[in-house]
Amino acid sequence: TRIHINASTPYDVVIEAGSLQRIADYIKPLKQNCSVIIVSDSNVAPHYLNLVKTNMINAGYSVCDYVFTAGESSKNAHQLIDLVEYMAAQSLTRKDLLIALGGGVVGDMAGFAAATYLRGIDYVQVPTSLLAAVDSSVGGKTAVNLEAGKNLWGAFKQPILVLCDPSTLNTLPDMEWKNGCGEIIKYGFLDVPGLLTQLEHKPLIKHRDSVSAVIARCVQAKADIVEQDERESGVRALLNLGHTFGHGIEKASHFEVHHGYAVAIGMVLMAQGAVKHGELAAEALDKLKVLIEAHDLPTTTTITKEEILAAAKHDKKSEGSTIKIVVPISYGHSELKVVTHEELATYLD
Ligand code: NAD
Ligand code: ZN
Repeated sequence: TRIHINASTPYDVVIEAGSLQRIADYIKPLKQNCSVIIVSDSNVAPHYLNLVKTNMINAGYSVCDYVFTAGESSKNAHQLIDLVEYMAAQSLTRKDLLIALGGGVVGDMAGFAAATYLRGIDYVQVPTSLLAAVDSSVGGKTAVNLEAGKNLWGAFKQPILVLCDPSTLNTLPDMEWKNGCGEIIKYGFLDVPGLLTQLEHKPLIKHRDSVSAVIARCVQAKADIVEQDERESGVRALLNLGHTFGHGIEKASHFEVHHGYAVAIGMVLMAQGAVKHGELAAEALDKLKVLIEAHDLPTTTTITKEEILAAAKHDKKSEGSTIKIVVPISYGHSELKVVTHEELATYLD
């Protein structure tokens, strides 16, 4: 499957099992006779770094690599500086290429390095986690975390190619599959035809063979949204369904509750609020819960309303006394709404 993304700088997303071992075939038409840095983390590199490296070297590229300790805590300014210093030490030039091989942490940080090193070099996203495949690898948002919060230092920089090899998901831990499923269910509420029905009939955690088709559907949905609003001044905010309360839950739990899990709970909380406000039918909420449970994800939390709200108020989508939220208004469709913090609180009552 090849999905074309018509962003300010257009590119393709290729979803193909087994593509990783032929990665050079996909890069050759876009970029030749250059040096390549492969950036990966300590969990992904042992599985896939040599595969990618060998194939690129055999195709004539000169290749170096940079591997950092896996985990969100590595997505920081210090690690970023270490990476760009390494790139400079390797004398990488404007015409060289970076390959981000890993999940969203690798993609976000390596993407930001590519966005800023020498004022920007080309990069390729090779998502190896389900979340990265359906979400972070597409759309050109790159960032690292600051002490004050997540993703506060970043840039928009579209990759020249996204190469997703779903067979890499075979080594992904179960917990990370579920994380990805949280985001996938989110797409179901953003007008993605057939996705909810497919997930109901074949919950992804039990029917992993259907993952390529699901990834393609989600990527197409994200592509449609990004093409309309690359820099998130409008509709792109729809992708934050479940994230207002979700981020609050993540933060208040000191990130004990993982992102996809928090998004799942966040969607349920927002849907419950929407039912109370007469914006969503109760049956739609019930069906959402059933779907989330079928993916072995939580629908409730012990974190208090006050804690969630306190954290949500500091969300990036918060502007002064108002905040932009995403409200599910039917089973499969959501809308943006600007509310005051007081109104937001009524969604959690
Ligand atoms: P991650 O990169 O930390 O990956 C999750 C875990 O799975 C890590 O331990 C990783 O090493 C491991 N892993 C990845 N692929 C593997 C594989 N094939 N086999 C074995 N282990 C593997 O996290 P993530 O869930 O992929 O992404 C989360 C990050 O993405 C967050 O930092 C979030 O802010 C960011 N994000 C960015 C965007 C965006 O638009 N840029 C969107 C959503 C999320
Ligand atoms: Zn998310």
